[in-house]
Amino acid sequence: MNEPTSPLTPQQAELVARQAERWNDPRTQDDARARLALANVRAKANEPRLTSQLKHLNKAPTIKHKIYWLRQMAETFADAAAPQAACRDACDGCCYQSVAVTQQEAEVISREIGMPLQAPTEWSTLPVMKYAGQPCSFLRDSRCTIYQHRPIICRLIFNMDADALLCQVTSGVRSQAPYADNSLYKELYIRAHLGKVKGQEEMQAALKSLLMADLREFFPHGLGKTKQGETA
Ligand code: SF4
Repeated sequence: MNEPTSPLTPQQAELVARQAERWNDPRTQDDARARLALANVRAKANEPRLTSQLKHLNKAPTIKHKIYWLRQMAETFADAAAPQAACRDACDGCCYQSVAVTQQEAEVISREIGMPLQAPTEWSTLPVMKYAGQPCSFLRDSRCTIYQHRPIICRLIFNMDADALLCQVTSGVRSQAPYADNSLYKELYIRAHLGKVKGQEEMQAALKSLLMADLREFFPHGLGKTKQGETA
């Protein structure tokens, strides 16, 4: 865990202590590995589907088409990981973490949901920690209001622990959780934006050059207000 940015309340301190105890318990890692092994059996069976989707991704002519195929691939990833994960309906732990998206993905979402983009004030190659502990602007009553259009990163987070304890974010403190490895999909996301990247060295350079901003910076008010003045 990183250090809190402000003093913790007794409740927050108690949560952080429980999370540390869970994380440091060797059974946590062992159990997560067992769940991942089951997920990997399913992932193996899904390989032909993934290979076909990858071909489509590589041939996709525009970033809009690439994002479509990245979403399809995320579905395939979820098909294997979700049944073994702690993630449940109306579980919103990861909606209190940073949500890094590119300008291009934000534009796709903007067109799909019919909401204009704001210009971000903070760009980064890393997730912006200042949003840790703050709800996503699209979160209402523990549910995503743009679920069909949510960013790729939201589709790739699966906590392989027994429950959501380690997903809960205390302001400024990002807890560790045994997440399913989504690095392949993050790399494909970057490649989709940068075109051909050869080898690890170029990939490392590309990683450092692709700027992203938090979803809350692009859409600070989420879906905003309805005509009746109620929050959408
Ligand atoms: S876009 Fe939806 S799923 Fe993603 S963080 Fe926001 S509320 Fe959660």
